[in-house]
Amino acid sequence: MKKKLIAGNWKMNGGLAFNEALVRAVSAGLAPTHCDVAVCAPSPYLAQLQGLLAGSGIDLGAQDISQFESGAYTGEVSAAMLKEFGVRYAIVGHSERRQYHGESDAVVAAKTARALASGITPIVCVGETLAEREAGKTEETVKRQLAAVIHVNGHCISEIVVAYEPVWAIGTGKTATPEQAQQVHAVLRAQLHAATDRSALMRILYGGSMNAANAAQLLGQPDIDGGLIGGAALKAPDFLAIVAAAA
Ligand code: 13P
Repeated sequence: MKKKLIAGNWKMNGGLAFNEALVRAVSAGLAPTHCDVAVCAPSPYLAQLQGLLAGSGIDLGAQDISQFESGAYTGEVSAAMLKEFGVRYAIVGHSERRQYHGESDAVVAAKTARALASGITPIVCVGETLAEREAGKTEETVKRQLAAVIHVNGHCISEIVVAYEPVWAIGTGKTATPEQAQQVHAVLRAQLHAATDRSALMRILYGGSMNAANAAQLLGQPDIDGGLIGGAALKAPDFLAIVAAAA
């Protein structure tokens, strides 16, 4: 049976003292759970987090990964560097990276391939903007974004985690309804099914204003296999409530 995954995406938040207090509170409140739990932290804190998370049952994730192996790429963090800090997951193609850092589908595909080649599980984000939804282009957008990644040659795409994050729902308090989210998740599942016979085992997370109040309903949908949590991951009680809703 496939386990759900609840991953916190701290984005550009945190600090040494804040991180320690948050992780200690989450670890202390984590009941034995049947779901996987991860936190995706800013790169400078990976060493701190590796220490804090040891033995907690919570996995460490990064928020990005370089498409390049090593060399003259100022500011980039390589897969090998992430591996040295025990990183298990890397978010790839988050809409904030696509929007503010110009990441194209091709770059997202290259990062996905690099992560897979290094034994890091990429959490590949797809999602439509409000304008795309209003223009009836939701399916077209997410299918194009997922297709770019499915067609990475030589790698088993069944090892990726997909995250559906409608851009209009991120940080806005406007969550997709469970029905809206399920509809898109079903489209993504069908696309995965056409590409691999392992699609039923793959995890498709929902992200976008998921919180303690709406998590159970979203996570109760047949094709929603977890959550990628922004704001609510910065508060231990909220994050723990979401984990409890998934267990
Ligand atoms: P919020 O939960 O803050 O809407 O962020 C979602 C997100 O972007 C997670 O990657």
